[in-house]
Amino acid sequence: MQVVKSSETHDLHFNFDNSFARSLEGFFVSCQAEPVVAPKLLQFNHALAVELGLDPVALDSEAGLAIFSGNAMPEGSEPLAQAYAGHQFGGFSPQLGDGRALLLGEVIDIRQRRRDIQLKGSGRTPFSRGGDGKAALGPVLREYLLGEGMHALGIPTTRALAAVSTGEGVYRETSLPGAILTRVAASHIRVGTFQYGAARGDVEKVRELADYAIARHYPEIADAENPYLAFFAAVADAQAALVARWMTVGFIHGVMNTDNMTISGETIDYGPCAFMDSYASGTVFSSIDHHGRYAYANQPEILSWNLARLAETLIPFVDPDKDRAIELLTEMIECIQPIYESHWLAGMRPKIGLLTEDPLDQKLIVDLLSVMEAGHADFTLVFRRLSQALRGECDSVRQLFKEPDAFDVWMQRWQKRLEQDEIVTETGVEAMNRVNPIYIPRNHKVEEALAAATDQQDMTPFTKLLTVLSHPFDEVAGNEAYAAPAPVTGIPYQTFCGT
Ligand code: AMP
Ligand code: MG
Repeated sequence: MQVVKSSETHDLHFNFDNSFARSLEGFFVSCQAEPVVAPKLLQFNHALAVELGLDPVALDSEAGLAIFSGNAMPEGSEPLAQAYAGHQFGGFSPQLGDGRALLLGEVIDIRQRRRDIQLKGSGRTPFSRGGDGKAALGPVLREYLLGEGMHALGIPTTRALAAVSTGEGVYRETSLPGAILTRVAASHIRVGTFQYGAARGDVEKVRELADYAIARHYPEIADAENPYLAFFAAVADAQAALVARWMTVGFIHGVMNTDNMTISGETIDYGPCAFMDSYASGTVFSSIDHHGRYAYANQPEILSWNLARLAETLIPFVDPDKDRAIELLTEMIECIQPIYESHWLAGMRPKIGLLTEDPLDQKLIVDLLSVMEAGHADFTLVFRRLSQALRGECDSVRQLFKEPDAFDVWMQRWQKRLEQDEIVTETGVEAMNRVNPIYIPRNHKVEEALAAATDQQDMTPFTKLLTVLSHPFDEVAGNEAYAAPAPVTGIPYQTFCGT
């Protein structure tokens, strides 16, 4: 494998400091990317490169392409595939691991944060099982768009640094163009990473992992009286906050398996995810989620279920008395839904323009959702257009409801509640528009962009959509098509895992 060094003209230096490789033997296997024949740089994230302390000019080049395609390793990289286990749709697999991903290493970014840089789709690893270790272009671009869209919405997420096409076909029922995503994450440690150690019965290894995760993600709890219990509470809070944020934008992750829930609380793995158009609490997009386990409204409950799996791995460290450890962790698990609810309320109140807290707010918001569901109203646009109703212009939001009578009744309650907060109209409108996006990754727009890239090698719709999604709260004249829901076809939208 070729190693790319800093050239005289450009600085290709990565500020690598590979703590995972150094500290967590047993949780990874060193391996290399498979070279590809004809890579092409399709998209490169200059702003993120700068944030990572990298030289964007140096990387937006042939040498950068060699790195993002896995054909060359940057100096200081120690490529490895991470081991993890996971409950997939409720069934436990003791060994999953990075079957199509390679951690190049960790860099310390310009804000002194440690960030993983990973190639996804770079070929087989010891964890590939029957898979080819490759990724298809459509899913790579989908992860790029949705991840960057999520980031612009202010929701914690892994990021996309680059997307390359490999010039090779990957076979998924038919042959598809291959691609590699360079993914950036606070870390790739998952609930499933803890389950991997625990499933092997290696208590000391799990403790090392917990100590590492505390130092990396929650250093403030290192001195807590019971650091492992505090660690559980911190992860629970981060994940509860995350799922609450998803719920406030109508996001359905689609595959909340324990191997897809990060310890850092970032959204990861944009396989079958999608945003809802018209509000229906039971919405499921994933073609393989036959029983709706990961339906929109089930996400908070799955959050608790997944965290209970993390708790099981921590029992040996929380208290020397096993029964006491279980008791302490159970108490915390029982607090997850109330914690989630408070994050959710804190996210929803400003969406309907509220500044203060009233015990009846929860019911007011839940009732709006019921009215939206009955009226088949568009989730994103209802919240966005509520701000116009604040100005007394109610038509645009009303017309989103099939039968607006119930909404009219709700609006009267809402307006009374607003009076209580003494909302100043224009300030209120501005505040609401800062939390209610006008542009989200609409499924039909995402599909249109991916189809153009895949079928016509035309990246224009992708680039345009990415630009729109990077400012989701700022209405731009001419971009009306990006705010509109999908035309009603009668065919339910379906997503697929097949990266
Ligand atoms: P996911 O559903 O994307 O979270 O992936 C679940 C597991 O399947 C992970 O261990 C992946 O590494 C593995 N996997 C998915 N696709 C492939 C592939 N094409 N080749 C090898 N492993 C894969
Ligand atoms: Mg995954």
